[in-house]
Amino acid sequence: MSNVAVVEPRVLDGVAIAAEIKSELVSKLAEAKERGYTPGLAVVLVGENPASQLYVKSKVKTCAELGIYSEMHTPAASVTTEELLALVESLNERDEIDGILIQLPLPEHVDTERLLEAVVPEKDVDGFHPINAGRLLSGAPAEKVLAPCTPAGIMEMLRRSDIPVSGQRAVVIGRSNIVGKPIAAMLINASATVTVCHSRTRDLAEITREADILVAAIGRAGFVTADMVRPGATLVDVGINRVTDAAEFERFFAGDAKRMEGFAKRGSTVVGDIDPAAFRVAGAYTPVPGGVGALTIAMLMSNTVKAAAARRSGN
Ligand code: NAD
Repeated sequence: MSNVAVVEPRVLDGVAIAAEIKSELVSKLAEAKERGYTPGLAVVLVGENPASQLYVKSKVKTCAELGIYSEMHTPAASVTTEELLALVESLNERDEIDGILIQLPLPEHVDTERLLEAVVPEKDVDGFHPINAGRLLSGAPAEKVLAPCTPAGIMEMLRRSDIPVSGQRAVVIGRSNIVGKPIAAMLINASATVTVCHSRTRDLAEITREADILVAAIGRAGFVTADMVRPGATLVDVGINRVTDAAEFERFFAGDAKRMEGFAKRGSTVVGDIDPAAFRVAGAYTPVPGGVGALTIAMLMSNTVKAAAARRSGN
């Protein structure tokens, strides 16, 4: 009989942490009410992208649960950049709107960059405006920055799970403006030693094996395999990939009765950018679903409440 103790990896439960954040927001919202205002979020959803419709629906539903005012604007896919700019302008001016969210992706003919830059930085609850991106990069204090929701959620998750960041080696795979770059900036600001990898990186596995904290934001199912992970590392899986192919499903989830039942019923399942087999060598990991994704909406709510308070205090 072997006497080697098997240490089970910790699951970083995004649903529980999101619930904690939302319950803290409830008391902040009660304070806002006492001061005579209700934070408000305007969501702009262009066209009929089913994934975007689903995301927007949960955002609006969460607003209603918490008592944040929300309204939806749903222009047709044929809308012009100019018409969208006029809509954003009117939302910028309305006092009861504290946050403006333009659901991405926008149709090809729309100038996304121009539109994101048209949102006043004080109402930029997605944190995509160059002013907020610049403030984040320059390490401005948290109350001065509206940071992108997914990376902000990752940092909350690490903090609330007592995962040390300062002095740790962090490796980020992915360099998008939405996840990769801002999470790298946040980890640097929290004093980690950060390496950013991407599609042109050479010897990727050699680099990822150095990581105490490995963040995968790639968009490829199960891309990070167990041999790319240092045993005991914290794995943060941002990827949301739908798997419909039975052979691919088997590769990731053979023997997982609960997943199999769901897959048989719906014909698909969701897998992250990290192969679930790699989680077994981790010290801690964020599951998919129920990890990082669960926090994104909570952080959007948090940014809306923060933007409302900051505008009223003149911050
Ligand atoms: P993106 O397509 O903009 O960026 C992907 C990045 O992966 C790129 O920087 C690219 O260089 C890198 N990459 C691609 N192939 C690679 C390879 N072979 N080796 C190394 N790097 C490679 O994607 P994104 O918007 O950053 O999203 C990434 C994933 O995260 C997607 O699955 C997306 O659905 C998911 N996502 C989840 C949330 C959430 O709330 N959980 C939010 C945003 C994005």
